[in-house]
Amino acid sequence: MDELTNGIMADFRAWVKDLLEEAEKIGNRAGAEALESRVRTEGQRLLGNLWERLLQQTLDRQKEARVCPRCGGRRRHKGVRPRGLISSVGHVRLKGPYWYCPQCHAGEHALDALAPESVSRLARELICLMGTCLGGFAKGSKVCEKALGIKLDEETVRTLCLKEGHRVLESPPIPPPVPQDADLVGSCDGTMVNTLQDGWRELKAYRFEHVGGRHAGAYLESAEEFMPRVRKAALAMKASRAGRMIWVSDAAEWIDKGISVQLPDAKRIVDIWHARQHLHEAARKIFGEGTAEAQRWGRRYSEELRQDGGRGVWHSLRRVRYKDLARQEALEALLGYLDRHADRLDYPTYERFGYPISSGGMESFCKQLGQRLKGPGMRWSIPNVNPMAALVCLWTQDEWDNYWRKAG
Ligand SMILES: [Zn+2]
Repeated sequence: MDELTNGIMADFRAWVKDLLEEAEKIGNRAGAEALESRVRTEGQRLLGNLWERLLQQTLDRQKEARVCPRCGGRRRHKGVRPRGLISSVGHVRLKGPYWYCPQCHAGEHALDALAPESVSRLARELICLMGTCLGGFAKGSKVCEKALGIKLDEETVRTLCLKEGHRVLESPPIPPPVPQDADLVGSCDGTMVNTLQDGWRELKAYRFEHVGGRHAGAYLESAEEFMPRVRKAALAMKASRAGRMIWVSDAAEWIDKGISVQLPDAKRIVDIWHARQHLHEAARKIFGEGTAEAQRWGRRYSEELRQDGGRGVWHSLRRVRYKDLARQEALEALLGYLDRHADRLDYPTYERFGYPISSGGMESFCKQLGQRLKGPGMRWSIPNVNPMAALVCLWTQDEWDNYWRKAG
């Protein structure tokens, strides 16, 4: 023990002495900056070295692991072998006995008991963070080296992220339960992702929020597979305790149909931004793309929609007639939409009762999914989309720490 302590202290002492000598010579900014750089890079190398020695000592003190943990039989000592580990303070290399069980045909390095994978738990979290919150694995790899001092190629960052994403899908974190009598607000939407096998495909996403937290999921799959997940998520958040459950989203058919089956008790409201898109789309068709008239018309009825609801706009427009067939069709399509969904476009009532009328959180979530999953030139193999989306969900919805606290 003393020998180890002395060795480590001697290294540190020599290093600090050297730094002090250099500090004395500093006369300008360039000198100070060079010294800062030395403190950082050499300091990390020393920390890596310290961690390597601490781990090596623990390994050396391990009892002989001759008994096989699987079958209880006797294992063979196959000599002392090196094994590497990517740690949060850099790559370390340990030496330890390698055990082999002839009954199980399985071998195990002594280090496996302390660090079962090639990457430590903390390094894994940091690498996954870089691979998730930046715009791609290549960027993640660069930041791992620059900010963490861990040299990893893009492929390794990709492999680690996708493997972790699969783990998140298998054992997701428990979402924050809704407080008694609080509002639970849910939403869903789709965003397109470019796949190698099948071109652009819709990634479907849901999101719930309440005063105590939020939770989201995103999956590349059919509406039939996706919608039951929304119900499962609501149950996991203990939706029955909520005072009101409100669903704010586009009135797309797959969403409407799914929610009426999966969350029949939810108060359904059409997200006002989606509804306004319908107004602007009709305006463009009636008055021409980009015209001042289209803009004026769109803005006028957008305002009326909030004040008087879908029914009010319908009443204002129902007697309008255009000679041009295409314009009349566009107007009638809009009238049909307003009529069909009138009971979900009643914004003045919602505002009176304090219901949310827009799903800003969902919009923002979809944007963040897009930033990570549809960057320039990005194309995904289909099996990799859901794992990657799972990591983005954790990160963007503040469930990251919650997951990693329990991650093995
Ligand atoms: Zn065995």
